Amino acid sequence: MKCPICGKPTDPAFKPFCSKRCADIDLGQWMSDGYAIPGEPADQADDNPYDNRNEE
Ligand SMILES: [Zn+2]
Repeated sequence: MKCPICGKPTDPAFKPFCSKRCADIDLGQWMSDGYAIPGEPADQADDNPYDNRNEE
């Protein structure tokens, strides 16, 4: 079996990748491929302590 990222032989410790680096690269591709993480806040506007528009 070969590493799907770089084509080197797979390391059993990191299969199906050859190294942690390639595993991280693959993970990064998944992240940037439109997979949102459940529970991850899209933005934190509601927590902004300086957004005190009600005071005026
Ligand atoms: Zn690799």
